[in-house]
Amino acid sequence: MLTIPQEEIQGIIERVRLRLSGSAAVPMAAAVPPAEPGDGIYPTIERAVGAAWAAFVSYRTMGLKQRHRIIDAVRCEMRERAGALAQMAHEETGLGRTEDKKLKNMLVTAKTPGPEDLEPQVWSGDRGLTLTEYAPFGVIGAITPTTNPTATIINNTIAAVSAGNAVVFNAHPKAKAVSVQNIRWINRAIVEAGGPPDLVTAVPEPTIESAQRLMRHPRVRLLLVTGGPGVVEEARKTPKRSILAGPGNPPVVVDETADIALAGHEIVRGASFDNNLICTDEKEVFVVAKVADRLLQAMAASGAYVLAEHELKRLERTIFTDLGEGERPGHVDPRWIGQNAGAILAEIGVRADGDIRLAVADVPVEHSLVWTEQMMPVLPVVRVPDVDAAITLAIRAERGCGHTASIYSSDVNAITRMAREIDVSIFVANAANLAGLGDGGEGYSSFSIASPTGEGLTRPRSFSRVRRMTVAGGLRIV
Ligand code: NAD
Repeated sequence: MLTIPQEEIQGIIERVRLRLSGSAAVPMAAAVPPAEPGDGIYPTIERAVGAAWAAFVSYRTMGLKQRHRIIDAVRCEMRERAGALAQMAHEETGLGRTEDKKLKNMLVTAKTPGPEDLEPQVWSGDRGLTLTEYAPFGVIGAITPTTNPTATIINNTIAAVSAGNAVVFNAHPKAKAVSVQNIRWINRAIVEAGGPPDLVTAVPEPTIESAQRLMRHPRVRLLLVTGGPGVVEEARKTPKRSILAGPGNPPVVVDETADIALAGHEIVRGASFDNNLICTDEKEVFVVAKVADRLLQAMAASGAYVLAEHELKRLERTIFTDLGEGERPGHVDPRWIGQNAGAILAEIGVRADGDIRLAVADVPVEHSLVWTEQMMPVLPVVRVPDVDAAITLAIRAERGCGHTASIYSSDVNAITRMAREIDVSIFVANAANLAGLGDGGEGYSSFSIASPTGEGLTRPRSFSRVRRMTVAGGLRIV
C-alpha cells in the first residue's frame, strides 16, 4: 500500500486550499502542520533554543567526516525539494515567480560552501608550531526574510552547520508554513545521515516578539539577521555579536563604451529576476545620454515594456502610497511588491504583448523610483551627461548601504573608479547582478550578504570562532 508522509498530505491540502481561495497574490494565512518529535519545530523560542543546544552538544562530538556526510545529505534533500519549496513559498507569500525561486534554492544548495571552507592554518618555525582552526559558536539565532524565505534557510543552514553550529530560525510570519516545512525536511535529512535531531529548529508561529526573544536568549551566541532596516536596527540594540545582512538599492551604470545589447539583456534578466525581490537585484539605471535610446530599445527587445509619460503617472499613483520628495525614499503599496510586471501594467490599463518581465520608466534623477527600494519589476532609467555623473549619482542612490552595484563598460578606468568609490559588498561588471551571487559568475553563493557588519557573502567561516594553539619549541618534524 502506498503511504504518503503526513507533511506532504498537509502540503497538498494547503496548496488546494490556497488555489480555491483565489489569487496567490493575496495569500491567506497558511496553516502550519503540527509538530512531530525531533523535527525541529517547538512551540516557544525557549524550547527551540533548548533543543538546538542539546543537538549542538551531540553534534560537536561527531567529527568532520560526519559533518561532511550531513551537509551532503542536506544538499541532496534540498535539490529534491527545491521545486516544491519554491511553489509553497510563492503560494504562501504571494511574491515573486516560482521558477525563479526554484533557481534560487538550487543555486544556494549547490554553491553555499561546506566544511571545506574551514581550512586550518599552520606556522612552523624555530620556536615550535602554531595552529589556527575554525570552531563553532554553538547556537546561532537566524532571522529570515519573506522575499527569499527558503533560499535563505537553505543557505544559512549549510553555512552555519558546516561550521559546526546549530541554528534556531525565526522566519518571517508571512512565510511561516513553508519555513517550517523547509526545516522539517532539513532535519529529516540530517537524522537520516546519522546527525542529531533538532540541529535546526524554529517556532511555528514566528512574530516580531519571538524574534526579539531569540535575539536576547542567553544560549544564543551569535545572531544572523537578514532583512530590512527595522530588524537590522533592532539587532544593533542587543549586546550580542551580530552578522547583519541589511537592505540595498543597487544602481547600474551604463556608459558609451558598453556593449549595449548585452547591457539591455542582462539588466532585464537581473532586474526582473523573482520580480525584483532579491536585495541584490538591479534597482535603478544611470545611462550616458548618447546611448540611452539604444539601451531602452535593447531592454524592450529583451522583454521589457518602456512606459510612456502618461502611463508612468498612472503607475506612480498605483504603486506608491507616498511619493517621497527629492532623495527621500517614498513608500510603496505592499500589494504590488513582488508582483508580475504584466499584473502591474494591467492595473494601469496597459495591455502589452508577450511575457513582459519588466516595466521600464525613463525618469528624471529626482524621481522616487530612483531613491526607493521598491522590490517590484519596475526599473527607472535616468539619462546623465557622462560616466562621471553616472558614478556620482550611483553612489548617492546606493545610499551608503554598501550592498551591491554594477557597471556596463569596456573602459577599465571607469570600472575601476566605480568599484573603488562605491565601496559595496558585491560589484559586478558587464553582467546581471546574479553573476555576483555565483549564477553566471565565478565564486560561491550566499543569500545573506552582510554589508553593515562587513562579512559580505556569508560562508562557514563567517559563523566560526578562530582559535589558536601554540606549542612552543616542539611538535615539528624538521
Ligand atoms: P523585513 O525587515 O520586513 O523582515 C525580515 C525579518 O525581520 C522577518 O523575519 C521579520 O519578522 C523580522 N523583523 C522585522 N522587523 C523586526 C523587528 N523590529 N524586530 C525583530 N524582528 C523583526 O524584510 P522582508 O520584507 O522580509 O525582506 C526584504 C528586506 O530584506 C529588504 O530590505 C531587502 O533588501 C533585505 N534583504 C537583505 C538581504 C541581504 O542579504 N543583505 C537578503 C534578503 C533581504
